[in-house]
Amino acid sequence: MTAAQPKASHHINGQYREDASGRSFESIYPATGEVNARLHSATPAVIEQAVAAAKAAQPAWARLKGVERGRILLRTAQILRERNEEISRIETLDTGKAIQETLVADAASAADALEYFGGLAGAITGEHVDLGGDFVYTRREPLGICAGIGAWNYPVQIAAWKSAPALACGNAFIFKPSEVTPLTALMLAEAFKDAGLPDGLFNVVQGFGDVGAVLASHPDIAKVSLTGSVPTGAKVLAAAAQTIKAVTMELGGKSPILVFDDADIESAIGGAMLGNFYSTGQICSNGTRVFVQRGVHDRFLERLKTRTEAIRLGDPLDPDTHLGPMVSKAQRDKVLGYIETGKSEGARLVTGGGVPEMQGFEKGAWIQPTVFAGVTDEMTIAREEIFGPVMSVLSFDDEDEVIGRANDTQFGLAAGVFTADLTRAHRVIAKLDAGTTWINTYNLTPVEAPFGGVKQSGIGRENSRAAIEHYTRLKSVYVATGPVDSPY
Ligand code: NDP
Repeated sequence: MTAAQPKASHHINGQYREDASGRSFESIYPATGEVNARLHSATPAVIEQAVAAAKAAQPAWARLKGVERGRILLRTAQILRERNEEISRIETLDTGKAIQETLVADAASAADALEYFGGLAGAITGEHVDLGGDFVYTRREPLGICAGIGAWNYPVQIAAWKSAPALACGNAFIFKPSEVTPLTALMLAEAFKDAGLPDGLFNVVQGFGDVGAVLASHPDIAKVSLTGSVPTGAKVLAAAAQTIKAVTMELGGKSPILVFDDADIESAIGGAMLGNFYSTGQICSNGTRVFVQRGVHDRFLERLKTRTEAIRLGDPLDPDTHLGPMVSKAQRDKVLGYIETGKSEGARLVTGGGVPEMQGFEKGAWIQPTVFAGVTDEMTIAREEIFGPVMSVLSFDDEDEVIGRANDTQFGLAAGVFTADLTRAHRVIAKLDAGTTWINTYNLTPVEAPFGGVKQSGIGRENSRAAIEHYTRLKSVYVATGPVDSPY
């Protein structure tokens, strides 16, 4: 077993909690198949403890001045930065992602969110509306208890992207990580505790989908924010409907990257590679349909193949390794199935497509970064979210054609355009059905920018000032300045 066993499965009311009667499960190091830790899913009693703790703590937290709440979030961010190496190591053990990535993109991104919303906490205000004597003012009030349900690709980042705005706004928070990656949310709970967050305001309950379902339908929980797949999103929405909860849904995608003839080709290739292979392809906003204009198509493919074959797979804990394994063998096998479907439907395999030989890591969930060319719009690999390192390259002739094809999907999470023509860049971006877009880069998600999808990719936005609206409710207060004018 690797040295990653937490003190207990859950973190409730500022304390580690165990309830061994819950279904047991393991965190596995995907590079070797070794067990990182053994945990238990939350029983109904554990979930009720978390809800009770949150309920007891939230009113006093909401009464604090925003800057006082913000100060604690800022301290938490500082602690995460001090513990970055330790958290990154555990994140690598839990997810298999290369330490080169986790050191910069996981706890660091969580700290960014805590700093941003910590700074914003004192600036959450309503407005004043003058009615020529009488007036209305609005109050931005917290919702109460908010729940977060996370996917396995960015465990600590997802926990912080949701809890930082929720806490800044005066809510209490209960987080359920994916059972595949349960570890670092507990480390975030420790950081909150050490930063002085009052007990009960940030709770972690472990478990499977059934635990998420209890949170999504719980009458005392005012809001649920999910990061997950579209089918899970539909279930959580249905569960939330029972008590008319507020929801934020960060769901899957099949996003397009458009590369025009005049683009800086090396940058476009770099963007497409980052947008398909980073985190071994397990990123919701990945640009998995790469449309390349006919004039540069062959040169693009040739350089893409060379650069893809230079990617270093290896020991995830070695800082020189670019890519680790996928999160699990089940997920890897699902992706291999898509690769077989791609071949059988007539796509041309340019590189990758199989399981690499990894000396010393024979039991890991490895997969080669894979590029298909000659992909057409109807192929399964161009329509379904694969969630692995599989890039589909499609060719196109003109702007209107490619916009129509890019939008022909039920998803709408992200999109990117590579071109040297600025007027075209803005014109095309405006016509793409996507919530998060880039011009001449891909997959950068700073906390300052709203993040989220349209169509079946989601509801609501994370990050930026926009997140404040999703963790507060607006009360309007009409104030009369004279006598009531009544006919009765
Ligand atoms: P899933 O949809 O399988 O699971 C997401 C979370 O929901 C998990 O914690 C899961 O628990 C839980 N869950 C499952 N069923 C239910 C239910 N009925 N009620 C409540 N909760 C439930 O997603 P993955 O973990 O497989 O993550 C990959 C997906 O997430 C991809 O589709 C990806 O695009 C999307 N994603 C979206 C992002 C975004 O911001 N838009 C970012 C990252 C990923 P359990 O793990 O036990 O099944």
